[in-house]
Amino acid sequence: MSTYHPFNNEEAIAYVKEIPNFFSQESNLVCREIGDGNLNLVFHISDSNTCTSIIVKQALPYAKVVGESWPLSLDRARIEREALQIQYHLSQGLVPKVYAYDEELALTVMEDLSDHVIMRQGLIAGEKYPLFAEHIGDFLANTLFYTSDLALNPLDKKAQSKKFINPDLCKITEDLIFEDPYHISDNNNYPASIEDEAQSLRENLDLHLEVALLREKFLTQSQALLHGDLHTGSIFVTQASTKVIDPEFAYYGPMGFDIGAIIANLILNYVAQPGWNDTEFAVQEKEAHLLLTVENLWKQFESSFRTLWNTDVQDLMARTPGYQDLYVARILQDTVGFAGCKIIRRIVGLAHVADIDTIVNDELKEAAQRKALAIGKQLILNHRQISSIEDLLRIVQKTN
Ligand code: ADP
Ligand code: MG
Ligand code: MG
Ligand code: MG
Repeated sequence: MSTYHPFNNEEAIAYVKEIPNFFSQESNLVCREIGDGNLNLVFHISDSNTCTSIIVKQALPYAKVVGESWPLSLDRARIEREALQIQYHLSQGLVPKVYAYDEELALTVMEDLSDHVIMRQGLIAGEKYPLFAEHIGDFLANTLFYTSDLALNPLDKKAQSKKFINPDLCKITEDLIFEDPYHISDNNNYPASIEDEAQSLRENLDLHLEVALLREKFLTQSQALLHGDLHTGSIFVTQASTKVIDPEFAYYGPMGFDIGAIIANLILNYVAQPGWNDTEFAVQEKEAHLLLTVENLWKQFESSFRTLWNTDVQDLMARTPGYQDLYVARILQDTVGFAGCKIIRRIVGLAHVADIDTIVNDELKEAAQRKALAIGKQLILNHRQISSIEDLLRIVQKTN
């Protein structure tokens, strides 16, 4: 009955009718597949009579972006669902609630967040989200602190981290973020107009050395349970609410990778602003707001993380004076380095961001691409010297 096969709309409806306390057999349900369809199916199922709705996300056994030739483990559906359950608990509901799941069918039934918008689309439309930095700063502090050795005893932490070995999805990151942009690769994807930039990425061995160090950290440091793909397309927002979705890349890795991912995406939107505004004044106002968001996000993360450490740290050695300061300082350096890697891969690598790619004016688009690469390189090259969030902001502001 539940042997794996991709669902169609009728099967999705039949499946959710069996979930206790949601729909009745008689309800008249409407189903739409709303996924962007590269790796997963996402069904939105609603009952117009009762205004009840639900999401069913089902993993596909391959990445569609390159046909069916790129196989991907279905176990990532379990990993995504278990990560959602842990993050829901640790973040007091900043992720969708899981209602049901089926490991065989690689599917998760979860809370419908359709009253939110995907943050990337909101930012492109020029919206501001006043509570976002605070919410995400707290989300990061709670999910990273409570899944690390600071809060778990080493036995529990190792038992937990074993459930999140995510080789296929980590391999995507290892290749697409930490390798392909620095070499000739079929996975790279950029216009001929910036070939000079791509060539300089391939030839800059100082840059390669720093990327190799960051890649090593991604491969070897099981510091905390990461979301693993925390870009603005994985965040739903309203003026009052922030919800994180899609943790299928979750694994035990370096904390700065998640923080860097979200900061990278704010910077990618920042460099795109001239393509989205008519006046220099409007551009500057948006840029200032985005940089303030980066600053507030880090500051919220740091203060929440230090508070959790001071109240809930379990590891006796972690109480050693000075250790917390060094620990936080290293998270910031990692954050800056990983942010740089994330920016570069979105310009020359396989997957891009709509913030830049949908700019209509070709000259402004190319200027945004070049500025992103310049900032990305500076963040990577300088990450081991960064000692405050202001250092990061200065690099972004002074790089043209
Ligand atoms: P993928 O891993 O394939 O990127 P996502 O989890 O990001 O899948 O979902 C793809 C899209 O489906 C999202 O951009 C969003 O539009 C929609 N979606 C996913 N989860 C939900 C949800 N809980 N509520 C409402 N819409 C959702
Ligand atoms: Mg997608
Ligand atoms: Mg995904
Ligand atoms: Mg997604």
